[in-house]
Amino acid sequence: MTDCVFCGIAAGDVPATRVLESPRTLAFHDISPKAPVHVLVIPREHHPDLASLAMAGDGLLDELVAQAHLVASEKGVAETGYRVVFNTGPQAGQAVQHAHAHVLGGRPLAWPPG
Ligand code: AMP
Ligand code: ZN
Repeated sequence: MTDCVFCGIAAGDVPATRVLESPRTLAFHDISPKAPVHVLVIPREHHPDLASLAMAGDGLLDELVAQAHLVASEKGVAETGYRVVFNTGPQAGQAVQHAHAHVLGGRPLAWPPG
């Protein structure tokens, strides 16, 4: 999709520090990290939000969540604990309209979130 920064990253047109790739997903460092580990996992194909991603079926959401866990393992936070977040909609602060999972860890994470 044109004018979508994460489609740009998936296409290799926008630079990003890639951490992990799978056939249908891509993981890269968040440009403005909120924790020592802050990685985004996206589907390569454009979906505007989590509901659209879930509706895609074919195990795409499963693959993305499995990759989120692999990111946590590779970054060394799978044992200490990590959080996977899909901000969805304006009140949750979704700023990029291409579905993405935040993988956060490496420090204690407050609950409930702000
Ligand atoms: P959200 O608020 O859930 O939509 O999160 C969007 C995230 O994308 C934010 O944490 C941003 O820091 C991050 N972000 C935006 N542009 C880029 C980029 N070009 N490369 C990496 N991360 C980005
Ligand atoms: Zn997109």
